[in-house]
Amino acid sequence: MIYAATVVDTPGDPFAGDPAGALAEDGAVCVRDGVIRARGSLAALRAEHPGEPVTRLDGGLLVPGFVDTHVHFPQIRAIGGLGLPLLDWLEHCALPEESKLADQAYARAVAAEFLDGLVTAGTTSALVFGSHFPAAMDELFAAAGQRGLNITSGLVLSDRILRPDLLNSAESALTDSADLILRWHDRGRLRYAVTPRFSLSASDEMLDVCAQLLGKGVWFTSHINENLAEIATVAGLFPGARHYLDTYRRHGLVTERSVFAHDVHPEDAELAVLAEHGASVAHCPTSNCTLGSGLFPLRRHVEHGVHVALGTDVGAGAGLFLPKEALQAYFIQQLLGPAGLSLTPVHLLYLATRAGARALGLDGRVGDLAVGKDFDAVWLRPAAGSTLAVNLRHARDTTDALARVFALATPADVAGVWIGGERAGPQSAAG
Ligand SMILES: [Zn+2]
Repeated sequence: MIYAATVVDTPGDPFAGDPAGALAEDGAVCVRDGVIRARGSLAALRAEHPGEPVTRLDGGLLVPGFVDTHVHFPQIRAIGGLGLPLLDWLEHCALPEESKLADQAYARAVAAEFLDGLVTAGTTSALVFGSHFPAAMDELFAAAGQRGLNITSGLVLSDRILRPDLLNSAESALTDSADLILRWHDRGRLRYAVTPRFSLSASDEMLDVCAQLLGKGVWFTSHINENLAEIATVAGLFPGARHYLDTYRRHGLVTERSVFAHDVHPEDAELAVLAEHGASVAHCPTSNCTLGSGLFPLRRHVEHGVHVALGTDVGAGAGLFLPKEALQAYFIQQLLGPAGLSLTPVHLLYLATRAGARALGLDGRVGDLAVGKDFDAVWLRPAAGSTLAVNLRHARDTTDALARVFALATPADVAGVWIGGERAGPQSAAG
């Protein structure tokens, strides 16, 4: 199948060089068996592949499927808890909802709603913060596998300072996680991530269990430096640690397969350790604003050589649509003035797509629309007469069109989503 469209992606890294040079644009891609086999002008692809059917995606832009590097599936029904800082929000909004996933039927419904939400928002790959309950993880993995999504996720581990029904012992954490790894890791597009909630709620014994599990070649994710009260509590719990990141580093949990969410308040020493080990940071701008966590120091991360991608952090975040996070990231950098890093539309597309694929080690397969990559793509085409349609009609060039997309687009502008070459849509009938 040849798709004729305005194909736009960022095969280059706009943070490493000229942002304009990171952008690529073509008129068509040819897809066979879910993989992009050719890319170029429509005329050239038709000449190279005579007889190949053509699907016209006229208007708007065809971009890579979005990559969300931090999102909590058990919180899909808990968005909109405004007015609380992190630790109060967890206690009053997030954790009571997460407890309900002890019921497997409830977890199944939540997993379906969550995954439908990802697909309809154009997200085709995600590092998903899981549930505290193994059966809920089975539900998420099974449903994600059925949809063909690239999902990396794992059982959330905690052994202190949370609601008692969310705690696991070190022994059950080890056996339950090992079982889930056997069942789901590297099964199709699914992968496993060892997931202590944060070191605030994970003792050294539990973090040791995480290190044992990481030895199985899986991924790692957790939270760090989100909120000043959280950071002070962690410092009190680990008097021997040099800083928050050290609570993970001492157990060998800072690796190139590690993604740390937030990092709003890092010390320079922590940025140096992240860079040295090739670990990534998931920047979650709407969540940071909702909870009043702070303004993300993107420039310091980039200057230290720390790789940064985007996360929606639902339910603290304001929805599953990555372009909204990219816009909020732009707003925050503008507000930081000289300490900020002014972001171009090319940066924003990169952050919503290829940066996430790199953070998750998936950039060989997804994150851009180059030949050889899986056809995970989103067609953004606004309804006729919408303000975005008006603005796209008046865009000077593709970069300008991208700027207008990031300023105005919503999930209502997602006209089509392809996962591994298959057209995707919501699957649950839940209203
Ligand atoms: Zn989170």
